[in-house]
Amino acid sequence: MPLDLILLGPPGAGKGTQAKILSQRLGIPHVASGDLFRDHLHRQTPLGQLARQYMDRGELVPDDVTIGMIRERLEQADCRNGVILDGFPRTPAQAQALDELLAGMGRSLAAVLYIRVRNELLLRRLAGRWTCRVCGAVYHIEFNPPRVPGRCDLDGGPLYQREDDTEEVQRRRIQVYQEQTAPLVSFYRERGLLVEIDGECSIPEVTEELIRAIEVRKAVDP
Ligand code: ADP
Ligand code: ADP
Repeated sequence: MPLDLILLGPPGAGKGTQAKILSQRLGIPHVASGDLFRDHLHRQTPLGQLARQYMDRGELVPDDVTIGMIRERLEQADCRNGVILDGFPRTPAQAQALDELLAGMGRSLAAVLYIRVRNELLLRRLAGRWTCRVCGAVYHIEFNPPRVPGRCDLDGGPLYQREDDTEEVQRRRIQVYQEQTAPLVSFYRERGLLVEIDGECSIPEVTEELIRAIEVRKAVDP
């Protein structure tokens, strides 16, 4: 049975960081809607140009565009054994569409891993976030610095700060999360899929908590 997981949580909770580690450990791809949009932006596709208007302001890209992009990604061959979704779904309509997409493939969610971090910590995390231009690996100037300043540990690629990581846009993204995405916590809790993870521990501690939670879910619903 494919292992389909969602990492849910506010901007800066550590979803991308953990998704990359879990993807390696579990051998299933990391599907991040933000990364897919950034890739379109970089390639200057019409979808990228449309998405940019929203991303620059910290607003959500419209559901139909986002859902279409994820559908295309999930249909690719490497997703057949499962996916780790990061940043999607972000609205109830996206959650509904995901259910239908997976059902159409004869699949269903194994778990929704909700990484909890207090608001005060989120801004500190986002302000110090540096990302590898080549592979997308994520660092933190204070909490997870690269071995060589400004260079990725994995491939030596240059690190950059995302354009939407200005303080104003960060605050807006957190607000948008509270308004539009936080309702998904109770949506998935009611379906018995939600597992709460303390996201304020160190990166390896959060990983271990996630792995334990996934093992428990797999035992319940193999
Ligand atoms: P998200 O994908 O949820 O927005 P990221 O994975 O990009 O979050 O993490 C945001 C920032 O916080 C990054 O700079 C990352 O290095 C850092 N970070 C992630 N997890 C932790 C943690 N457990 N403790 C301290 N810093 C962390
Ligand atoms: P973060 O890790 O800081 O939360 P993301 O990389 O997930 O940021 O998202 C960056 C931006 O991409 C969002 O502010 C939004 O404009 C757009 N985006 C990403 N995922 C979605 C989604 N599921 N629905 C709508 N917009 C999205």
